[in-house]
Amino acid sequence: MDHRADTYIGGRWAESRGEDVIAVLDPSTGHCVATVRESAAEDVDAAVAAAEAARPELRAMGAQARAALLGRIADELEGRAALLAGLISREMGMPRKHCEAYQVRTAVTTLRNTATAVRQVEFTERIGGSSVRREPVGVVAAITPWNFPLLQTVAKIGPALAAGCPVVLKPSEITPLDAFVLAEAVHAAGAPPGAFNVVIGNGMNVGEYLVGHPGTAMVSLTGSTRAGRRVARLAAPAIKRVSLELGGKSASVVLPDGDLAAAIAGSVRTVVINSGQTCTALTRLLVPFQRLAETETLVAEAMAGYRVGMPDDPDADVGPLASAGQQHRVNDHLERAPVDGARTIWAYPSDGIPRTGFYAGPAAFAVSDPRIPLAQQEVFGPLLAVIPYVDEADAVEIANGTEYGLAAAVWSADEERALRVADLLEAGSVAVNGAPFNGLAPFGGYKRSGYGRELGVHGITEFTELKSVQVRAGAAG
Ligand code: NAD
Repeated sequence: MDHRADTYIGGRWAESRGEDVIAVLDPSTGHCVATVRESAAEDVDAAVAAAEAARPELRAMGAQARAALLGRIADELEGRAALLAGLISREMGMPRKHCEAYQVRTAVTTLRNTATAVRQVEFTERIGGSSVRREPVGVVAAITPWNFPLLQTVAKIGPALAAGCPVVLKPSEITPLDAFVLAEAVHAAGAPPGAFNVVIGNGMNVGEYLVGHPGTAMVSLTGSTRAGRRVARLAAPAIKRVSLELGGKSASVVLPDGDLAAAIAGSVRTVVINSGQTCTALTRLLVPFQRLAETETLVAEAMAGYRVGMPDDPDADVGPLASAGQQHRVNDHLERAPVDGARTIWAYPSDGIPRTGFYAGPAAFAVSDPRIPLAQQEVFGPLLAVIPYVDEADAVEIANGTEYGLAAAVWSADEERALRVADLLEAGSVAVNGAPFNGLAPFGGYKRSGYGRELGVHGITEFTELKSVQVRAGAAG
């Protein structure tokens, strides 16, 4: 990596002027692998000013040229795929063998999808006597998490740039390193100076300063519900646009005629891969009461098929959790679940879990009371709650019975029935019978999982203002 300093502002690398130094830890060992200096308020001011200065050029480029820019950024990232995969594995612990596909290729695809989608956005439409235009909202503060650090970032900067909005990115303080490589890629792709800027720091200092900055017109946050609540409050006085992609506690609902084996294989995979640190992980498996025993056998078999190990171990499917804080959270749930009445179905053998770093092994519990914390809170770790239900209405009530509403899955041999249940679920995306993720469809949450949508055309229009220009007497109004 050849970045020369800890901030990228106005198309140049610059030394951070902050006092604090952030240690980036390898979560598989707990050892420091890099240090970065936190940005000072002056650095954030400079980044916002550079972004503001880039607005006219970015807007004047037009949608086609901005789409082409995204394509070039995707190419530059692709050329750095191996570097990025190694870096992300080191920063947040996903096994190296999965990192390129899950962390890097997904980001490249997301950028390419955004380039496709921007060509489909109607930036001008005619409504009666009005010309209705979509204009870029202004400078965007993008604040991102550590679990899919590159993917979550390009899911914001791609559509923002596509809409014509310059961005100031504050990546997670846990995983700042890949953002530098992204800045190199954006630079090499020939983005106008100031179109993309990176500042470094934690949420309370740099994040809050950026959110409250008078020069940012919109805040796009992916993170916890706690951070989303705080960001929305800080953005309120200036009536700033806010888009929040927050937590989840997603249900996988297996209807009585559903393919139980496929449902379990698909759901367990989302809970185990990336050590369960996936916002859409299907961490609640809802099965008919009569099929609970069969489910338990299949869940245990499915979980036993994944191997925990060091990220560089080619046989490892599951790495450490990303931080000591994550490890504490998972361990708290592991201790508390049995006290709350959950029965262990399967737990990873403790002698197979590395003793270094921030590891916690996958586990599954049978939960008879869906109100317990394991079945309500976002653990963000490899823990599955298997919850039996009595009938379809009960299943829907349990599925909707959390404060979250990000994702869900429904399994049934009768697609019409699955779609009927999908209609009843309070979730921003629902997969029927394991249908794959669609990177062009809108993605986001109901309830405390946030508001606003990412990806595809909807992700781009999120970064636009509508202006109606009346040009003649119209048919309506
Ligand atoms: P987090 O909320 O601790 O941090 C996310 C980002 O917000 C970081 O960059 C952090 O520095 C910043 N931040 C925190 N407090 C802030 C504040 N007061 N003001 C401004 N910025 C602040 O979350 P995390 O632990 O990094 O990520 C895990 C969370 O992200 C989980 O809840 C997960 O579900 C969620 N997530 C959601 C999606 C989605 O698309 N819905 C995707 C991935 C992760």
